[in-house]
Amino acid sequence: MAFRVVVRGVVQGVGFRPFIYRIAKGKNLRGYVRNAGNSVELLLQGEREEVNEFVETVKRDHPPLSEIFSIDVKSVADNEVYEDFLILKSEAKGETGSAIPPDVALCDKCIQEIFDPGDKRYHYPFTVCTDCGPRFTIIEDLPYDREKTTMRVFPMCRDCSREYEDPLDRRFHAEPTCCPVCGPEYILYKGRDRVNTSDPVRDAAKALDRGRIVAIKGVGGTHLATKTTMDEPILRIREMLGRPQKPFAVMARDIGSVEDIAFLGAEERNLIESFRRPIVLLKKRDGALSEYISPGLHNIGVMLPYAGVHHLLFHHSREPAFVMTSANIPGEPMAIEDKDIFSLGAEYSLIHNRRIANRCDDSVVKIVAGEKTLLRRSRGYVPQLIDLNIEDRANVLALGPELDVTACLLKGNKALVSQYIGNTTKIKTLEYLGRAVENLMSLSRVEEIDAVAVDLHPGFSTARLGEELGERYGAKVVRVQHHHAHIASLMMEHSVKECVGIAVDGVGYGIDGKPWGGEIMVATLKGFERVGSLMPQPMPGGDLATRFPARMVAGILSSKYPLKELGSILKDIKGFRNSREVELILRQLDRGFNTPETTSAGRVLDAISALLGVCYERTYEGEPAVKLESFAKGGKALVDIPVAISENKRRMVLDTASILEAALFAIGRYKKRDIAASAQKALATGLARMALMAAEKNGIRVVGISGGVAYNDAIVTTVKTVVEAEGLRFISHRRVPCGDGGVSLGQAAVAAM
Ligand SMILES: [Zn+2]
Ligand SMILES: [Zn+2]
Ligand SMILES: [Zn+2]
Repeated sequence: MAFRVVVRGVVQGVGFRPFIYRIAKGKNLRGYVRNAGNSVELLLQGEREEVNEFVETVKRDHPPLSEIFSIDVKSVADNEVYEDFLILKSEAKGETGSAIPPDVALCDKCIQEIFDPGDKRYHYPFTVCTDCGPRFTIIEDLPYDREKTTMRVFPMCRDCSREYEDPLDRRFHAEPTCCPVCGPEYILYKGRDRVNTSDPVRDAAKALDRGRIVAIKGVGGTHLATKTTMDEPILRIREMLGRPQKPFAVMARDIGSVEDIAFLGAEERNLIESFRRPIVLLKKRDGALSEYISPGLHNIGVMLPYAGVHHLLFHHSREPAFVMTSANIPGEPMAIEDKDIFSLGAEYSLIHNRRIANRCDDSVVKIVAGEKTLLRRSRGYVPQLIDLNIEDRANVLALGPELDVTACLLKGNKALVSQYIGNTTKIKTLEYLGRAVENLMSLSRVEEIDAVAVDLHPGFSTARLGEELGERYGAKVVRVQHHHAHIASLMMEHSVKECVGIAVDGVGYGIDGKPWGGEIMVATLKGFERVGSLMPQPMPGGDLATRFPARMVAGILSSKYPLKELGSILKDIKGFRNSREVELILRQLDRGFNTPETTSAGRVLDAISALLGVCYERTYEGEPAVKLESFAKGGKALVDIPVAISENKRRMVLDTASILEAALFAIGRYKKRDIAASAQKALATGLARMALMAAEKNGIRVVGISGGVAYNDAIVTTVKTVVEAEGLRFISHRRVPCGDGGVSLGQAAVAAM
């Protein structure tokens, strides 16, 4: 008898066909296996019982990197008789419904080889096998075969071909298989001049040990690297990139070095050692490394080596860790072309000659309220599909908001969320978004789009791109409110049809045209009702109040004091450039000139941060609030701060002016860290109470939190505690970021409805 078997899932590029081959041979089945589109297709000749056993074995023992969504078995006519079991060339066209795997950290067997002097891959940085190595970053089209990757320009030598063809070899059909004879190579440059050396990686490591800055082209992008134990080169990178304060990630030599740098919990250890190798935010040990790596923060982003080049750099170095920060001009995508890498101005550049097909930044995770939370979902996670519990069959493309953008392609009950794209106010990043969209479509074999989802904000360049794409595909353009999208993405993750959502972030365009960011909504995927918010607060100077948070102190306290009195209070607060600035702000508040009102939770946290002298200028997104979280870590919520909720035009409003005023009163009587912890707790308690009231009124049993403020461990822990104490279910993000990187999924979900 003959059977046609189709396996859908993450089944390409994960050693799936050789795995199938070994089982089929073992069970004496005949026929073939091949990649088809993005599934794997088999013809099996044998008895029905053997085939059933075969399917059970596949389900039970499939390779660790693979994921099976479904296995379809159909009996078919027995025309051709196979003598043996074969691995056939891939079918170019085929069915859809499956995916390619993300990039995988170098496996232990490959690490052993590169440090074995007798091995042909000794010290060869591009060593990989079926169980490890780049996938998404080298693939240009499906099916996942060498000719469809950026490895096609490196024809395999005879040795490599033999391994590639041998079903019993670890490199059987491992598409990036190569060796020093046939594969890519590194070249070291000093400035733009090629360094004449037999070992460019060793020389780069020596340069790092001397405190030099080295640009290192890696798997999915380029890092700027330097020592972690010396301030001077770190400050120089800050100058090069125009990033005075933004934290840099570090790569530690091994798990022991991680523990020398930071405190490592069990869950964090699992994350940092997983094959995805994300950057994990850990509580740092003071004084272990230069303070300039994550200035003003209690934590530090740490990752372990994930490519051959990283292991080799540490092998040749004495350092416990390197700074490894994405090499890009702020706002622009990471440099991957030689000319862009050179133009960064590093002293040395270690560059290889394999093209990066898909740029992919390091992913970033943090434990928030005891759960893994993604800050950036990229390398190691993308392009893994997110399985959703919906029946809709529409193809929807969503383009995200403006900053921290990802794109999302929703296809039936699967969502494909792109890698981190970034700040789309920069033209290069917007172009990158356009290419990423094309890529999502070709990797999932989608040619038709039914709807394009974009933000409600009329000025976003992503919305303009959406209009263009809508026209190109004859698709309807659907505008989705920012915070509704946040909550919708949360609902999608948890298969929840209705919830009370707490959407807290810096800013998103409201349906009334005002900047929102501290909203309580009763939401379904179809729509929402804004049932509560933070008190609208004036932002004197508009965007200037975002950059200089002391202005928010003035704005928020202006409802509590006559302007004259406010003026004398503000004199004691640092963070204004001079007394003339204070005069100007008072005049703006008096006349309401250039003073939009916002319900943003981010702006309230910024104000608390400036009031307590934690941060006076925002040089990266979220800086004052992120530093406040770190500052408050050392404090206790001892200060009595009022949580006052009123009803205004049938909307609940949390009085944030009273919170700030109470914090102001407490200065001098309490430790500033205690005030910080107390103010955060009051804000969180107020949000949770409003959500609970809305839940009760509407008979809803689920409360969730989303938005960039949901990275704040103390705030989320408080909200969770208050909600669960009432016996309700609390949900937060696990699979996409809480921040704007998760918005595209929610936009797509809303548009699909
Ligand atoms: Zn390997
Ligand atoms: Zn070779
Ligand atoms: Zn947002």
